[in-house]
Amino acid sequence: MTPSSSTTGSYDTYVTHLECSETGERHEADVLQGLSRAGKPLLVRYDLGALAEGIDKRTLAARPPELWRYREFLPVRRAEHIVSLGEPMTPVIPLQRLQGRLGSAGLWFKDEGRLPTGSFKARGLCLAVSMASALGITRMAMPTNGNAGAAMAAYCSRAGIESYVFCPQDTPEINVREIARQGAKVFRVDGLINDCGRIVAEGREEMGWFDTSTLKEPYRIEGKKTMGLELAEQFAWELPDVIFYPTGGGTGLIGMVKAFDELEAIGWIGSARPRMVAVQAAGCAPIVKAFESGAEHAELWENAHTIAAGIRVPVAIGDFLILRGVRGSNGFAIAVEDEAIEAALVEVVECEGLLLCPEGAATYAAYKRALEEGKVHKEERVVLFNCATGLKYPLPPMERSLERHKPIDYATL
Ligand SMILES: *Cc1c(COP(=O)(O)O)cnc(C)c1O
Repeated sequence: MTPSSSTTGSYDTYVTHLECSETGERHEADVLQGLSRAGKPLLVRYDLGALAEGIDKRTLAARPPELWRYREFLPVRRAEHIVSLGEPMTPVIPLQRLQGRLGSAGLWFKDEGRLPTGSFKARGLCLAVSMASALGITRMAMPTNGNAGAAMAAYCSRAGIESYVFCPQDTPEINVREIARQGAKVFRVDGLINDCGRIVAEGREEMGWFDTSTLKEPYRIEGKKTMGLELAEQFAWELPDVIFYPTGGGTGLIGMVKAFDELEAIGWIGSARPRMVAVQAAGCAPIVKAFESGAEHAELWENAHTIAAGIRVPVAIGDFLILRGVRGSNGFAIAVEDEAIEAALVEVVECEGLLLCPEGAATYAAYKRALEEGKVHKEERVVLFNCATGLKYPLPPMERSLERHKPIDYATL
């Protein structure tokens, strides 16, 4: 007997073309594509009418609880092209004690730390590497603050694709080592993620690698889109009122908005949408600044710094898509200080037993701030995103020890 899985057999997909996210210009699917001819991210478009005929909620509900249950919504055309490390649906965990403390009507963490390589970057890279493999790519490269590089390295190893990864100098040691152990050629670069991005772009011709930078290829966003599909299904197709998302390059926020648009187009949800809240760190908040000034694009954030490395992104190529998603849903963008992030991390682990990553903790800090400022209301049902396991981050030292041959004074433990 073989275990049940969604990654065997052949099936239909409904991709029609790729579309420039700015000009709407059509680009061909099923050939190698990076940015659009206008230099903007490409979005995958589907024949949603046919998709609606091809799948129903009951069929979906009977499938194994994994990412590939949504295969009709994804671009991989043949099952044998799927590169999978077993991507589970991630739990939506009610925060009953914190909810009581804050007087909220509903508060959940969607815990993405359960995915392969311990972060939700696995969703995007699972799709990107599957498509790269299907299109015959043999070498991939990316700039990363850590988690994306680890995910790319792992999926590339599994697919037999060579990978090159470039990290800012101060990327946490554990992430750099994980990337190396997962099989990539990884380098520390004396700069920030945008400097690493330039190295990838400039080396493309000589090295013949595929630039897998955030939103510079069309498929990572389709992987991240599954967060929105999953959330909708887990909430019985009645979405929550507000989503707090820690925003770096913004793939997840853009992907969820795309998921909701597609679900509405096939009639699975109505027009009511969660308000999308982009959470950033006060030491790197280009999207918040652009949101507050009413700008359509963000400016480069100088001297970016925060303990939440995953959202330390001084410039995002999809900035206008993030801002559209936030404004279009009547949401907002909000920044929180590192001290608030740390306090939130401690509060959540002590009260709920969830060891978050700092980026995830930032969403809880932002929720509390937004409650105080009246930007969200206690009656609203709120989902926070934890994007990686807290085990990937430095933990405070533990100094206590016992000598087993000496008498133990239990009362002082
Ligand atoms: C990448 C990352 C983010 C930001 O995700 P985007 O969708 O790129 O904005 C947040 N948290 C962690 C832990 C990450 O690795």
